[in-house]
Amino acid sequence: MKTDFNNNNLKLAIQKKGRLTDDTILFLENAGLILDTDGQRLFAKCRNYPLDIVFVRDDDIPDFVENSTVDIGIVGENILYEKNSRVQKMLLLNFGYCRLVIAVQKDLPISNIGDLNKSKITTSYPRSVQRFFNSQNIPVDILEVKGSVELSPALGISSVVADLTSTGSTLAICDLRIIETIFESQAVLISRTNINNRRQGLIDSLIFRFKAFLEAQKYKYVMINAPEEKLEQITKIVHGLKSPTVTPLAIKGWISIQTAIQENVFWEKIEKIKEIGASGIIALPIEKLII
Ligand code: AMP
Repeated sequence: MKTDFNNNNLKLAIQKKGRLTDDTILFLENAGLILDTDGQRLFAKCRNYPLDIVFVRDDDIPDFVENSTVDIGIVGENILYEKNSRVQKMLLLNFGYCRLVIAVQKDLPISNIGDLNKSKITTSYPRSVQRFFNSQNIPVDILEVKGSVELSPALGISSVVADLTSTGSTLAICDLRIIETIFESQAVLISRTNINNRRQGLIDSLIFRFKAFLEAQKYKYVMINAPEEKLEQITKIVHGLKSPTVTPLAIKGWISIQTAIQENVFWEKIEKIKEIGASGIIALPIEKLII
């Protein structure tokens, strides 16, 4: 594989090694990009789009985008908050969910942040935490560590931490109790601000593809058998994107209704149409959806 970059190609920075790496690659592939990666994951080329990918530390990504080393990046919103980066947030990507929380040793008599006046707080996100406590007018003493924040209480460093969590299980294992969420975060596509029309066009087409995959995740494609006289009633419930497609079945008086149902109301709608008389319901994932 050739290692040189094509200067006409869009450059995307993604995390080299960490929680976001596999999900980012999966996301790009699900959005239809075919990637050729070198064995060490230093860079990748895209076979079906003018896009080169560089693998870097995730906290370098906003800086690389800001100083135009790359055009776009995929990074957790948490890093943007911490760095106060001057980049454009283009699209939330629906993975990498986490939140920055304040947690205290389980048995401490602390119930809310008001009880943290002048407390020592260990965190890898000092600026985000300082900004939060400034906004609450609560003075605190922030101690920055680069990792393993959750071990600070056990090491006798501080009994309060501010750390990223998704399930909360690591904090619970360390006997820490969450008392506040500072912010919620997910992976986001970011772009540099000063960009020429050609590159902007490439970014816009890429976003169009990303959105088609993200929209598709929200829906299921559903095929329903129903008595013909129930069509109007069923259509009111599962109207689809514009209207359902209706075709006759080989049995007289029966039809097949094909439609898209949003994932978050899927079971509710299926129960309703089943009560009306729908049967033989088949649900399939949608790969891409352009609305
Ligand atoms: P890491 O692999 O620790 O460098 O984490 C990379 C990124 O994953 C973070 O900056 C967050 O955006 C995201 N992330 C998602 N869930 C978590 C979590 N439970 N703890 C830390 N980071 C998380």
